[in-house]
Amino acid sequence: MAKYLGPVCKLCRREGEKLFLKGERCFTPKCGFEKRSFAPGVHGKSGSRSRTATGRESDFARQLRAKQKARRVYGTMERQFRRYYETAQQRRGLTGLNLLQLLETRLDNVVFRMGFSSSRAEARLLVSHGHFTVNGRRTDVPSMLMNAGDVIQVRESSRSTTYFKELVDLAEKRNFPAWLNRDLKSLNGTVLRLPERAEIDGNLNEQLIVEFYSRR
Ligand code: SF4
Repeated sequence: MAKYLGPVCKLCRREGEKLFLKGERCFTPKCGFEKRSFAPGVHGKSGSRSRTATGRESDFARQLRAKQKARRVYGTMERQFRRYYETAQQRRGLTGLNLLQLLETRLDNVVFRMGFSSSRAEARLLVSHGHFTVNGRRTDVPSMLMNAGDVIQVRESSRSTTYFKELVDLAEKRNFPAWLNRDLKSLNGTVLRLPERAEIDGNLNEQLIVEFYSRR
């Protein structure tokens, strides 16, 4: 289960916007992007690397950035992300929307969306430490894909830990989307259906991602 181990705030700086990868810290003045809102590296301030001779960003650069941004938001490595794309292609309907739905229904993302963690990275850690059950069975696979009707619950033995004791107050302040349901008393949640496009991060451009992978 490979994952990115480098400096996280550099990813936001590289994409030129806040990706909110670090939970509560992203909303404080400690945010790396607030301090240095230019790309990392020697060309960071000039931003000249991906530009054409006329100064415009090339189509390839825009497609690459759209793909990298989505990959970073959901915390997946390239090989896994490409697999999601291939699966999305095989499904009926729009490939771009299928891809986003696959990413949204990852267990770590669902845990994050339900408000059980402050970031996807934290959700991934909680899942991989075995704090959740899916339909009553313990799992430690953050990339597990959820379907409509699946029930995610904090394990009985994990509820007595400080994190989950304090979670209820924190989670109450976090909204959750209409395609999910949650019950903070019993620390569980249900996937009601697949998310619609409007319920997924509007900042992601799935069309450019499809164009990126469609290049010959
Ligand atoms: Fe991005 Fe959050 Fe780091 Fe700010 S604190 S740069 S939003 S990961």
